[in-house]
Amino acid sequence: MNMFKQKKSLGQNFLINDKILPEILKAAEIKKDEVIIEVGPGLGILTSALLDKGAKVWAIEKDFELIETLKKALGHHKNLKIIHQDALFFDLSTLKKYKVVANLPFNIASPLIRKFLESANQPELMVVMMQKEVAEKIVAQPGNSERGILTLAVEFYADAEIITDVPKISFRPQPKVDAAVIKIKPYPHFGSEGKQVEPELFFKIVKAGFSAKRRQIHNSLEATLKIDKNVVIDILKKSKIDPMLRAEDLSLKEWLNLCQAVAKDDILKTNE
Ligand code: SAM
Repeated sequence: MNMFKQKKSLGQNFLINDKILPEILKAAEIKKDEVIIEVGPGLGILTSALLDKGAKVWAIEKDFELIETLKKALGHHKNLKIIHQDALFFDLSTLKKYKVVANLPFNIASPLIRKFLESANQPELMVVMMQKEVAEKIVAQPGNSERGILTLAVEFYADAEIITDVPKISFRPQPKVDAAVIKIKPYPHFGSEGKQVEPELFFKIVKAGFSAKRRQIHNSLEATLKIDKNVVIDILKKSKIDPMLRAEDLSLKEWLNLCQAVAKDDILKTNE
């Protein structure tokens, strides 16, 4: 570690407090021989702990310098596959059953989570560390101003809960912000709730709803989807949603009702 010059652009804040590891392993319910994808193994602190549990670890690391270090430290391990790649471009289709356990690079935590959840080949479970603020956005309930597109993108596919907070002094170099470990469990068979609504429509409506966060939902939908005010009010009422609410006030169920009503009345098509 002494010789290694940390690359800020790759979110390299290495975990130095190993007391957090048992909590991560417990939340991930690691079983012998199961495949774990670890994004950003870094110097291998979590990788080692996963291997000690008997998991088969596929460690995807973008930084070539760290790949070399990791190979020296853990390369002999028969259960470890070290992959030199940008995890955002990693092809998930070849995987069978797998979990994701990682201390994510903070700067790309959201796109990484969405990549896994939106894939046709979702993980069974994700237990990941990320910036606390982002974790709190993911679990923000209706009425919380932190609730946004990321919240809904996770809720559409999975249940999420924060397992524990991790203070910034647990990392070297120390980041500016605290972290949290979050457990994300995709619903079986692509969403017991979400499956009645096409993802494309869901994200179109949610994005439109959040386009002007502080405005009332009917205003954002009208402006972004270019639909007549009366039609929007009518569809919101049919979905049992108060048009004066803001996007952050709506539950997943309400967004799904809204999408179903939009699809049923074919509002978007008639407007194109
Ligand atoms: N797992 C280590 C730990 O807990 O100490 C390192 C975690 S550090 C927060 C994030 C790691 O992700 C770094 O090793 C960094 O080089 C790597 N990384 C950053 N961007 C990446 C990407 N797009 N794909 C794969 N690895 C990436």
